[in-house]
Amino acid sequence: MRILLVAFALLLPLPAAAVEFTLQGELKQGALLYGQTLPGAAVMLDDSTVPVAPDGRFLIGLDRDAPASVTVMAGRDGVIDARTLEIQPRDYDIQRIDGLPPEQVTPPQELLDRIAREREQLVAARLSERIAADWAGGFAWPATGRISGVYGSQRILNGEPRQPHYGVDVAVPEGTPVRAPGDGVVVLAAEDFFYQGTLVMIDHGLGLKSTLMHLSKLEVKTGDVVTKGQVVALSGKSGRVTGAHLDWRVNWLGNWIDPAQLVPPM
Ligand SMILES: [Zn+2]
Repeated sequence: MRILLVAFALLLPLPAAAVEFTLQGELKQGALLYGQTLPGAAVMLDDSTVPVAPDGRFLIGLDRDAPASVTVMAGRDGVIDARTLEIQPRDYDIQRIDGLPPEQVTPPQELLDRIAREREQLVAARLSERIAADWAGGFAWPATGRISGVYGSQRILNGEPRQPHYGVDVAVPEGTPVRAPGDGVVVLAAEDFFYQGTLVMIDHGLGLKSTLMHLSKLEVKTGDVVTKGQVVALSGKSGRVTGAHLDWRVNWLGNWIDPAQLVPPM
């Protein structure tokens, strides 16, 4: 048996040429995967380049609507390790509401420009691929309270599907301290956006961002370095909301991750 194994090993390519990667995390929609490959390797998720730290660590975020399978590829010196991953689908809470007056479904024309400008700022801030491992310090709830809204739910108003709810809502009274869920750099601290209200976006490195929304008061500004647990704002009911709460969203290069998966149960 031993002789057979040695003989087999001689047929394998030289170790110097091998590239491989490991991934930790659940292969399901909304999950964040922690990857490790060799220093200097490039990583792709389907057709997109994945930012990789010099030591070979990388992240992959699976969107709410991630397809049934994705391909992850790590390559170095012309050698490639490519794997197709099956992604488990999730069930989301879908609510249909019909017979609403049309003006409650579509924002008035004069607001559309403002909404588009604000969206541009959010998307630009989200695009940062800063090579940093702030995410490695782990995550904690930015505030604690009753969970009043979950990741992935969606409303269909008068037959029109609205944008799904990508955050986790925590019911907290106005003025509650809101803490940075993880280490990072503030890439956007802005007041009174139409939908999001006053908000703070924190870049945790390698494409991962947290956004804290509907705040009443900012305690940081764009460019500030923050540490996990640091108070960055006070909660409120700014933006498009029906009552005071904190909405925490997590994004990885355009893919929405379930924030509840990053932290232990409250
Ligand atoms: Zn919300």
